[in-house]
Amino acid sequence: MDEQHDGLRELYQEVIFDHNRSPRNFHEMGDASHQADGYNPLCGDQLTVYARVEDGVVQEASFVGHGCAISTASASLMTEAVRGHTIEEVEALFRDIHAMLTEAHPDRDLGKLEVLSGVREFPSRVKCATLAWHTLHNAITLARDTARTE
Ligand code: ZN
Repeated sequence: MDEQHDGLRELYQEVIFDHNRSPRNFHEMGDASHQADGYNPLCGDQLTVYARVEDGVVQEASFVGHGCAISTASASLMTEAVRGHTIEEVEALFRDIHAMLTEAHPDRDLGKLEVLSGVREFPSRVKCATLAWHTLHNAITLARDTARTE
């Protein structure tokens, strides 16, 4: 079992390394409907998350910024994971990711995002892994409020 666990850990590290080295959807978005800035003072991670939402569905998500490998890889994985999902689904995913990183495993399989679960062993890095998700959450909810007052 330990051997298998080590193998899994290596795979997780490889995925994180890959997403940090070549982040997916790493660009600004001119036609974004939602955007927000995120900052994690504990580590110095800084990013801006963009989303284009149409009819309540995230059509596209992207990010720019700079930070440690965990924050960059998490943001990269997130922009892939949320695409094609409704805002409600993204919010549910955000809650499950947060649970996965801070408590026990959530009930459902988080697929590729499980690679981030290793961070749970390093509490100081949890904020790195959740930064992109908090930022996307803010982008979605703040823009909704703004839209209402227009
Ligand atoms: Zn960090």
